[in-house]
Amino acid sequence: MDVRAKLEILADAAKYDASCSSSGAKRRTPKGGVGNAEGMGICHSYTPDGRCVSLLKILLTNLCIYDCQYCINRISSDVPRARFTPEEVVQLTLDFYRRNYIEGLFLSSGVIKSPDFTMEQLVRVAQLLREVHGFGGYIHLKAVPGASPELLAQAGRWADRLSANIELPTDGDLQKLAPQKSFAETGATMGAIHARVAQAKAEREESPRAPVFAPAGQSTQMIVGATPSPDAAVLDTANRLYRRFALKRVYYSAYSPIPAGDVRLPAKAPPLVREHRLYQADWLMRFYGFAPAELTPAEAPQLSLDLDPKLAWALRSRALFPVDVNRAPRELLLRVPGLGARTVQRLLRIRRWHAVTLADLARLKVPLSRVRPFVVTADHRPTLLLDDARLAERLRAPASQLSLFASAEAARTGEL
Ligand code: SF4
Repeated sequence: MDVRAKLEILADAAKYDASCSSSGAKRRTPKGGVGNAEGMGICHSYTPDGRCVSLLKILLTNLCIYDCQYCINRISSDVPRARFTPEEVVQLTLDFYRRNYIEGLFLSSGVIKSPDFTMEQLVRVAQLLREVHGFGGYIHLKAVPGASPELLAQAGRWADRLSANIELPTDGDLQKLAPQKSFAETGATMGAIHARVAQAKAEREESPRAPVFAPAGQSTQMIVGATPSPDAAVLDTANRLYRRFALKRVYYSAYSPIPAGDVRLPAKAPPLVREHRLYQADWLMRFYGFAPAELTPAEAPQLSLDLDPKLAWALRSRALFPVDVNRAPRELLLRVPGLGARTVQRLLRIRRWHAVTLADLARLKVPLSRVRPFVVTADHRPTLLLDDARLAERLRAPASQLSLFASAEAARTGEL
């Protein structure tokens, strides 16, 4: 099979892995080498379903010895198979890079003979690119759960980012659908990477000449909707991973039905808006101080599809409102629907000089109709607004065409 035919199979098979993002890397062009990764993050292009396409995103092989039921590359799947040699991946990456098609490589793989054998092949690609060809572009390597710490250490030496996929929200889900995998094994791999990242950071504080290790950190992917586990379980697992392993990102990927899938799998994909709500909730946990149980309490373990998670929380927590924007601490202001992190920063500044009014909020581009029931300003004190039984209905955003640029701004700033 020629390389082009392999590419068709292996680039297509890689689209199911959402855990690739290239932000946060900084790598200069080596002397006499080619390519660099920008400190502000490689410019991404996104397909309409949100996948990053600025990296050459391929699998080394789509023939996997495991039999994860939600995966099209599992051993029992009847699909055309292909496998690149490490040298072929290197050549493709350089060719695409020189034509300015890509800014780097995202390389994943089915498990070939064992986690170690697979990891060796992945590491070899990165090593050849960096050492033989002086490649300075971005490299994201899949860390195969169960690979030895020595191989992970080598991977992090050459790659900007590593990702070991947790795959499903609970260990019970994995046991049902991917019995060759476990939270314990993936956690051990994440732990080994985390320890190396921390060690490299400490060494570089001692000496800037100390080698880097996966400078863009590690991320993971969770498939959502393949099992009945609710959003509460998804967010709880994500929160634990962020805390234990200081992950850069958890990527949520709505399950997409595969041909001849297991009968335990749903026939239909979950609505994509569920993925969107999980990203919003994830952002609220990481930057707004929300705990998973606040966003998905026992009585509502599923995120609302028609209300964003911050508004849904505020409507459940009406006793805490209204919040006085002239007096409330930052932590409380961050919880007001319609006040994003940047707006709160500005409010804290301007209220030192004068009492904030509704006109000030309007100047800060705060959506007044959304925020009015929840805040007290120098010229506004809501009386019965919070008691309105139809408040949720009134605040629910009308269906409208999403603005590409507004979404990009929200993704960049985290304004919710
Ligand atoms: S180990 Fe990865 S590639 Fe292999 S079947 Fe499972 S999910 Fe698919």
